[in-house]
Amino acid sequence: MSGIYIHIPFCKQACHYCDFHFSTSMQKKEEMVAALAKEIRLRKSESANEEVETIYFGGGTPSVLSSAEIDFLIQAVYDNYTVVVNPEITLEANPDDLSTERILALSKSKVNRLSIGIQSFFEDDLKMMNRAHNSEEAQRCLTEATQYFDNISIDLIYGVPGMTNEKWRQNIDMALSFGIPHISSYALTVEPKTALKKLIQTGKIAEPNDEVAQAHFMILVDTLTANGFLHYELSNFGKENHFSKNNSAYWLGKKYIGIGPSAHSYDGVSRSWNIANNPLYLKAIEVGELPNEVEILSQADRYNEYVMTGLRTIWGVSLLRIEAEFGQIYLDYLLKQADKFLKDALLVVENDVLRPTKKGKFLTDGIASDLFYLNLE
Ligand code: SF4
Repeated sequence: MSGIYIHIPFCKQACHYCDFHFSTSMQKKEEMVAALAKEIRLRKSESANEEVETIYFGGGTPSVLSSAEIDFLIQAVYDNYTVVVNPEITLEANPDDLSTERILALSKSKVNRLSIGIQSFFEDDLKMMNRAHNSEEAQRCLTEATQYFDNISIDLIYGVPGMTNEKWRQNIDMALSFGIPHISSYALTVEPKTALKKLIQTGKIAEPNDEVAQAHFMILVDTLTANGFLHYELSNFGKENHFSKNNSAYWLGKKYIGIGPSAHSYDGVSRSWNIANNPLYLKAIEVGELPNEVEILSQADRYNEYVMTGLRTIWGVSLLRIEAEFGQIYLDYLLKQADKFLKDALLVVENDVLRPTKKGKFLTDGIASDLFYLNLE
């Protein structure tokens, strides 16, 4: 057992690009916190004899909870599970919630890692994304948070329409100036049913351009690696000993329990996901039911997940593990599918491990899907 993920399904306002599950109405916040604690309790048998190594508050916006509410949920985990000494406890937080007092209160709690949704240090980008914070808040909260927390990650978005390479470099340089040890960075993607999609369709915002995003990705990789960060997952960069333990556990296929509306869980054999609807979630938990759907993973599903996460991470895809866990048929299939990418120098095999080359990294997700095993089961 590796981690407990707790989804806080509330946000102050909807960012234009976001398709995560959240509500902008806080009316049911207290009820939700009580329900989350109850789900934590209801599922304690799922981790019998296993230790919790990480607790992760994601969302949504976990920092809309009060410090007392966060402490209450952490305590619920401690009351119902065996937690290792010094677990990694991460809180996703937005700059507008991180006042000086709040940072101080969090530093006195069990939370020992902050993941701060900066996205950009430029006012026009933040407005275009409809973020709830401004550039000044982003900088102030990092100045203060770094005085109390040494384990901080920030999110940055690249490939934003109108963002030049120079502006992107300035964003990265600004992030580096705070001395934070971890950065997660994603290309702006246009998800269906988002405000961003509509704004593009009505011509109010230009469509993100793949070539621009690729150029930004290259700048990101080169700048961060030159500054001592290890590129340990496609979108994640960490200094030594500062990789996200929680996320690394997902990528290494460890078990986790996802609490809250829309949260996913994995027990080594099956994957389950809670209903992405706050009222229905509350109703089910109230009567002691788990509002989830469960899918038993086939061998092909497990192979596909391993190939996807392996290619995205520093650990790569071990050919020996493919053979041992999935058999010769899968190994032959993988090597056959990988052949054209190996010839194009987008993939490479080193010490029996398949991984993308620098040139192939930006294309990793597309390459991985070409290696998927689709029709066997
Ligand atoms: S704060 Fe995060 S979860 Fe909420 S709308 Fe913005 S990106 Fe989505």
